[in-house]
Amino acid sequence: MAKEKRKRFKMTPQRLAILKYLENNKEHPSAADIYRNVSRVFPTMALATVYNTLRALKEQENVRELSIDSGKGRFDPDTEDHNHLICVKCRKIVDIRGDFSLHLPEDDRQGFEIMGNHVDFYGVCPACTRKGREIRT
Ligand code: ZN
Ligand code: MN
Repeated sequence: MAKEKRKRFKMTPQRLAILKYLENNKEHPSAADIYRNVSRVFPTMALATVYNTLRALKEQENVRELSIDSGKGRFDPDTEDHNHLICVKCRKIVDIRGDFSLHLPEDDRQGFEIMGNHVDFYGVCPACTRKGREIRT
């Protein structure tokens, strides 16, 4: 996380706990996941505090909100360029790093000046594949 950006952020113990929970977190938690975990330490914390903190972190570009999980935003403290793979059964999200660039042919651009694109992948994770086999046998 960018240090000079963090300075403007009014730190409270609850916000610090949210930051700590997110630091190096590879789970891509939703706001509800963050609330569930941090409220174990701060039972009086409001869900709104989680949302406010996430909004501030997003504005500072210290967290990214992913749209890969339809229905709920998932948050990623890793703001370096990378792609994701989501399990369609358990909604687990993992990082993937590589070159997945797409090319949009001139004919398909309809006059748009293309600024970028983003590729997400979806599938069934090994744990869900195993579970599926257990049920069938
Ligand atoms: Zn899964
Ligand atoms: Mn990620």
